[in-house]
Amino acid sequence: MRTHQPFARERLRSFERFCRARRLPVTVQRRAVFEALAARGDHPTADQIYEDVRTKLPEVSRTTVYRVLETFGRLGVAQSVCHPGSSARYDANMERHHHLVCVRCGKMRDLADAALDRIPLPSRRCGFRVLDGSVYLRGVCSECRDAERSARRSTRSRAEEKR
Ligand SMILES: [Zn+2]
Ligand SMILES: [Zn+2]
Repeated sequence: MRTHQPFARERLRSFERFCRARRLPVTVQRRAVFEALAARGDHPTADQIYEDVRTKLPEVSRTTVYRVLETFGRLGVAQSVCHPGSSARYDANMERHHHLVCVRCGKMRDLADAALDRIPLPSRRCGFRVLDGSVYLRGVCSECRDAERSARRSTRSRAEEKR
């Protein structure tokens, strides 16, 4: 399984190349938004990105951040991904990948899996031409599993103390 983190710097460089090739000026705001997005592996909402950017650029407005994200989406720098039961999430990973969604904390992680890339598509008979697609797997993340395990352990030890 791969996550965003180790690729953040590499991705920032390819972002700059991408902008130069399209004559899109790499403004301080655009760079900060991209950096915030690439640094996180949890597919943040626009508001979460805004909060991150604000720690670096305290003057930045929410509207600016939203506008930058819109531009990114249009140019294919970032994509908005659907998250079951929540607002749009943003993703700086433009390579084909799938997602692991935690039903407890809502965290959404990338999953690169060649076997999932080769999933057979429904036949044309269903009357729908598939352009692209990715797999969303719902489950419980390791952090939430650890938290549940230690919660169980402390309940058990409290019960033992009473005995
Ligand atoms: Zn979780
Ligand atoms: Zn993703």
